[in-house]
Amino acid sequence: MIEFVGAGPGASDLITVRGAKLLREADVIVYAGSLVNAALLDEAKPTCEIYNSAKMTLEEVLEVMIAAERAGKRVVRLHTGDPCVYGAHREQMDALDAAGITYEVCPGVSSFCGAAAALKAEYTLPEVSQTVILTRMEGRTPVPDAEQIEKLAAHGSTMVIFLSSGMLEQLSARLIAGGYAPETPAAIVYKATWDDEKVVRTTVAGLAEAARAHNISKTALITVGGFLGTEYERSKLYDPTFTTEFREASK
Ligand code: SAH
Repeated sequence: MIEFVGAGPGASDLITVRGAKLLREADVIVYAGSLVNAALLDEAKPTCEIYNSAKMTLEEVLEVMIAAERAGKRVVRLHTGDPCVYGAHREQMDALDAAGITYEVCPGVSSFCGAAAALKAEYTLPEVSQTVILTRMEGRTPVPDAEQIEKLAAHGSTMVIFLSSGMLEQLSARLIAGGYAPETPAAIVYKATWDDEKVVRTTVAGLAEAARAHNISKTALITVGGFLGTEYERSKLYDPTFTTEFREASK
């Protein structure tokens, strides 16, 4: 059996209880060394074989996992955050399907949740935005035309932008071209939940300068939108004049 496990955003105690148990039981761990906290590997058995996928190709990762699984070993493939976003996860699952190998997926706390915690913010505020767009700028991986930053920015919703902190001049210009006012609040969250986490509050126009001032060029999320501001409506769910499935409105 192969288990894909989300390691969480950084702090080693932000893995799930299930994920930590799978790590303790593993005979082989293949971890994403670029962003997974190596302290998580302290959980592993002394006999566990450990591989850093940052130095491997997809083929090499598969070879290690498939050989171990065929030898009856318990394999954990440890991904940063949750494997479902920018995890290069599907290609591994498809290869395992083709090889007739079963696997399970144990979710993790994605860095976009870690960033909200660092910001002490809620992405979905009544009368501000009820939508969170998770996206990235084009790098070596292309982004479909319909998902270019300008087009997504036109919604004016909450945006969380991955993998883009080295291109902030361009990101700002494109967010503004798409419709955000230059003074729209924005924040850079570097290494959310790690010991060296940094939270920098700025505006859409100020992103590049703020990153330079704090020496940030990677391992950061850019968050944008009115959710970082002060105006919003309170929720209906906890409004005393509202009846819900669980509570009668007070008269
Ligand atoms: N699957 C991961 C994302 C992997 S892509 C997840 O769920 O979070 C790698 C990108 O994620 C980084 O370039 C950065 O933009 C973001 N990232 C990952 N961990 C982060 C953290 N702790 N703080 C801020 N951004 C992070």
